[in-house]
Amino acid sequence: MAYVTGLTKSGESWTPEFVESLDQASCIGCGRCYNVCTRDVFAPEEIEVDEDDEGDYDDDVRMVMALANVDNCIGCGACAKSCSKNCFTSATMEA
Ligand code: SF4
Ligand code: SF4
Repeated sequence: MAYVTGLTKSGESWTPEFVESLDQASCIGCGRCYNVCTRDVFAPEEIEVDEDDEGDYDDDVRMVMALANVDNCIGCGACAKSCSKNCFTSATMEA
């Protein structure tokens, strides 16, 4: 099976892994993925807090990250590497 590949500056081939999903249940809203992504893929989002959610929240909502423009992803992997909560699922793409 052939996958979408790219080239490094020196001409070596590499295989991007594109973001497929972000687990908001694990997300702590730290914003690291938002800061490292150069493709404007992410946007913060408020979600309602369940009664059995752990944590001390001032409101009944908490901030998490959302995939706002996932089609902009170039599969660089920076977001997954920056996330301490392993929120991301990424995959290669068939050519
Ligand atoms: S893989 Fe790269 S381009 Fe894609 S969402 Fe993550 S940081 Fe952005
Ligand atoms: S780096 Fe991970 S925990 Fe932090 S906002 Fe992004 S998805 Fe959430």
